[in-house]
Amino acid sequence: MPEETDLYGLIGHPVEHSRSPLIHRLFAEQIGQLIDYVLIDAAPGSFDETVAAFRERGGRGLNVTLPYKGNAFRICTHPTLRATQARAVNTLAWTPAQLIGDNTDGAGLVADLRENLGVELQNRRLLLVGAGGAARGAVGPLLEAKPAELVIANRTADRAVSLAQAFAPDGPVRAEVFEDLEPSFDLVINATSASLSGHVPDLPSAIVGPTTFCYDMMYGRHPTAFLKWATAMGAAGCADGIGMLVEQAAESFLLWRHVRPDTAPVLEKIRQSLS
Ligand code: NDP
Repeated sequence: MPEETDLYGLIGHPVEHSRSPLIHRLFAEQIGQLIDYVLIDAAPGSFDETVAAFRERGGRGLNVTLPYKGNAFRICTHPTLRATQARAVNTLAWTPAQLIGDNTDGAGLVADLRENLGVELQNRRLLLVGAGGAARGAVGPLLEAKPAELVIANRTADRAVSLAQAFAPDGPVRAEVFEDLEPSFDLVINATSASLSGHVPDLPSAIVGPTTFCYDMMYGRHPTAFLKWATAMGAAGCADGIGMLVEQAAESFLLWRHVRPDTAPVLEKIRQSLS
């Protein structure tokens, strides 16, 4: 009798360039399990019914990407603490009675920084640029790493203030406007989508010193606009978000399959697939 193949997927709009099917196939191969992982492009307004249909056809879990992470948070009946903090869900799992929503983006970021890149977070000064969904998902896990302080700066300053206020009970976090940022940080994380259009947030160059590590959540075949800027400013090291992508996927896989895969060989293959 053939072994049953469990079905997972990524829902978003658009999704066609996603590396998630390859990542999850490699994870499953690594531990000798069989899964199918499909891409689901859900037209605007069809998120809820598309998730319901996927459950109906026997799907076991979903990753969720733009623009539906907020929708996924709203429909889940059992959000994890980190999903509740982020008010966004990138991983859905379910039983007949429960729709569980998790947010693995921040944990993926922290795992990439610490384990893959060897970047120390404890007692360090961290700057998070951006206050959108990705930044919101990162704040809780970054504060759990016990930095000396976490400063949030965003083009629309009010959004950084609200984000810092929301997490104030959880650790030393505050908002700052771009022009008042003081030199220099141990780590600067670009959680804006500016690199998507080849732009760099309007940051003072002094935030990058000779020991500063710079990280862009965006990734691609070539260094992002932010990483080019950081290198020109003399950053000690730079990395893009491809490791975060693989690590957040590993956290989703753990939720679904109860095994955390070895990410190093998968990260290597995904990097190669970009070039
Ligand atoms: P959102 O649309 O929720 O937020 C966008 C953010 O970017 C806002 O803070 C916005 O500022 C800021 N921004 C956009 N353009 C500019 C600009 N020209 N200058 C300065 N700030 C700008 O996006 P997300 O938070 O979901 O995603 C942000 C990035 O993170 C994307 O590049 C995404 O690809 C990446 N990401 C990577 C992941 C990974 O696994 N590697 C996972 C999740 C996200 P304002 O508030 O002023 O509009």
